[in-house]
Amino acid sequence: MTDERFFNAEEAYSRSELEALQQERLRATVKHCMNSPFYRERFRSAGLSQGDIRSLDDLHKIPFTTKQDLRDTYPFGIASVPLGDCTRLHSSSGTTGNPTVILHTARDLDQWANAVARCLWMVGCRPDDVFQNTSGYGMFTGGLGFQYGAEKLGMLTIPAAAGNTLRQLKFFKDFRTTVVHAIPSYAARLYEVMCQQGIDPRRDLSLRTLVIGAEPHSEDTRRRIEDMLGVKAYNSFGMSEMMGPGVAFECPGQNGMHIWEDYFIVEIVDPVTLEPVPDGEVGELVLTTINREAMPLLRYRTRDLTRILPGECPCGRVHRRLDRMKGRSDDMIILKGVNIFPIQIEQVLMQFSELATDYLITLQTLDDNDGMTVEVEISEKVLTDDYSALQKLEKEITRCLRDEILITPKVRLVPFGSIPKSEGKAVRVKDLRKQY
Ligand code: ADP
Ligand code: ZN
Repeated sequence: MTDERFFNAEEAYSRSELEALQQERLRATVKHCMNSPFYRERFRSAGLSQGDIRSLDDLHKIPFTTKQDLRDTYPFGIASVPLGDCTRLHSSSGTTGNPTVILHTARDLDQWANAVARCLWMVGCRPDDVFQNTSGYGMFTGGLGFQYGAEKLGMLTIPAAAGNTLRQLKFFKDFRTTVVHAIPSYAARLYEVMCQQGIDPRRDLSLRTLVIGAEPHSEDTRRRIEDMLGVKAYNSFGMSEMMGPGVAFECPGQNGMHIWEDYFIVEIVDPVTLEPVPDGEVGELVLTTINREAMPLLRYRTRDLTRILPGECPCGRVHRRLDRMKGRSDDMIILKGVNIFPIQIEQVLMQFSELATDYLITLQTLDDNDGMTVEVEISEKVLTDDYSALQKLEKEITRCLRDEILITPKVRLVPFGSIPKSEGKAVRVKDLRKQY
């Protein structure tokens, strides 16, 4: 490429070039899916044949694929190639029922690395950068997914893996790390330990770019993390079923994540009626993979709620932008008949500069009444011995939360660093309610 901004030619495609490629790839994918017993049967029972899918307008004829389908066909039932052609398997935790399995061919892995490299290049990473990955390696795709992407770009990579925060900080310093990948809750943890160790990231470290993703976080949380670590932080979206990280990523404009439409066809549907919603309205993200061999998924219901940001992006890419994830449909809390997303609570909390970024929502039953307690850490900069000031602050937070979620929670301010941290994605909600 001659244009420094782009890693791949497809990033600079016009809308019509992109759609022509999508159409060609959709047809090829549907044809290829007929090697999968699962999709053959799906098409047969829907009275569809592969020839019925000729253009993007025909996509809606294809039945949705769900997480339950992945569970029902565990482990290899959706594959479209013989197992001998696959070179890697990733599996999700499977807390409810069968785990799910995603297979990759060598080509899939190469295309995945390319997508991640493209994302990192987009936010200014170059071969002379030093990239440190604080994700768990193993089944969690944030480890190997970023590893191979960063290598493809040509950076010096440090596969530090999760945990051992003191060692992470030592690596930052000794290896002059410039780019870090961390989930947002861990980025906050890194700062906490820097404070304890007397490390000033601006003075003592070379960090410039942070990639944060894998869990929902608000715009205010991002700004705070940027401020704490002295970096630019870019939102990264991915999921194992689609490959892992590299599905959608913010550009330097930091306004929505470009979803790579040469890899995926995007739909946003109403989660109840399953009809498409207009651009700009929130609904469930549905993705069709059009650049995968081992296990393409057609119209996969991700359960993630988001919207397409209308309008063009000044960066020159026409790949549409997804807004921050609102959460998964199954993250929704129903308390006293009111629907609440944890991110709504986070948005309110992060408006208070006296608070740090860690919080925990507990739902419990007292005297047969369901209620919510929100514990939130106070910022390390706030003095905690002024009791009346803290009480006033608790009251003010309670009032703002009530305005947002229409329920009055009990708010408890707790010391900086006191909420237990989990090794992987942050646990924000504990549901201890009595089950009737
Ligand atoms: P698991 O399903 O076990 O969490 P994944 O790593 O596949 O494993 O997680 C993918 C999910 O993580 C997505 O479906 C979405 O809910 C969430 N996620 C990923 N990236 C982001 C992001 N940038 N913002 C919010 N949520 C995200
Ligand atoms: Zn852009």
